[in-house]
Amino acid sequence: MMKVKKTLAICFVSFCMIAPAVPVYAGNGNTTVYVTDKGDCYHKSNCSTIKNSKTKTAVTLQEAVEDWGRRPCKKCKPAKYTN
Ligand SMILES: [Zn+2]
Repeated sequence: MMKVKKTLAICFVSFCMIAPAVPVYAGNGNTTVYVTDKGDCYHKSNCSTIKNSKTKTAVTLQEAVEDWGRRPCKKCKPAKYTN
């Protein structure tokens, strides 16, 4: 049993050493949001603004902000991208 505990402890320590290299916002940046070819916001999938849009595109939150230069929609209040 002691041996197992030691192995777990080593794994935990290794994880802690690797962890700082992984961005904290990784999950946040991978959130799927929607953009259209018009406007300058990104939206949640259920936003009424994009409901009838034929040009809505699913992108990650990171893409919406960094590649598309969009800001969060005031209506549906999607997650904010924290960098
Ligand atoms: Zn919206």
